[in-house]
Amino acid sequence: MPLDLILMGPPGAGKGTQAKILSRRLGIPHVASGDLFRDHLHRQTPLGQLARQYMDRGELVPDDVTIGMIRERLEQPDCRDGVILDGFPRTPAQARALDEMLSEMGRSLVAALYIRVREELLLRRLAGRWTCRTCGAVYHIEFNPPRIPGQCDLDGGALYQREDDTEEVQRRRIQVYQEQTAPLVSFYRDRGLLVEIDGEQPIPEVTAALLQAIEIRRTTDP
Ligand code: ADP
Ligand code: ADP
Repeated sequence: MPLDLILMGPPGAGKGTQAKILSRRLGIPHVASGDLFRDHLHRQTPLGQLARQYMDRGELVPDDVTIGMIRERLEQPDCRDGVILDGFPRTPAQARALDEMLSEMGRSLVAALYIRVREELLLRRLAGRWTCRTCGAVYHIEFNPPRIPGQCDLDGGALYQREDDTEEVQRRRIQVYQEQTAPLVSFYRDRGLLVEIDGEQPIPEVTAALLQAIEIRRTTDP
């Protein structure tokens, strides 16, 4: 059975950081809706131009556009053995669409991994976030600095700060999360899929907790 996982949690919880590590460890792709939108933006596609208006304000891109983009990505051959979804689903309609997409493919979610971090820590994490221009690896100026300032450890790419990582937009993203995405925690809890992980531990401890939870879900999955 394919290993289909979602990583949930507020902006700054560490979803992208952990998804990249898990992807390497588990050998399944990291599918991040934010990265897919940023790629469209960079290539200046019509979808990218549309998404920008929402991203710049910290609002959610409309469901139909987002769902279509993810559907297309999940149909790619590299997603055959499973995926780590990061940043999707973010609304109840997206969650229902994901259920449908997977069931059409004869698949189902193995776990919804919820990385819990208190709100007061999130802004500090987002304010110090630096991302590699070429591979998307994520660093933190204080909590996870690169070996050479301004350079990615993995490929030497230049590090940049995301345009939507201004304090005003960060605050709005956190608010939008509380209003529209937080309800998904009970959605997945009711389905018996939710696993809560303490995201305030150091990065390697969070990874270990996630891997352990995945292993348990995998072996108890019918
Ligand atoms: P998300 O994808 O959930 O928005 P990121 O993975 O981009 O979160 O992480 C946000 C920021 O916090 C990054 O700068 C990252 O280096 C840092 N970070 C991630 N996990 C931890 C952790 N466990 N402890 C301290 N800082 C972390
Ligand atoms: P963060 O790492 O701070 O959680 P993301 O990279 O996941 O941020 O998302 C950046 C922006 O992309 C969001 O503020 C939103 O505008 C858009 N976006 C990403 N995923 C979704 C989604 N599933 N539904 C709607 N909009 C999304």
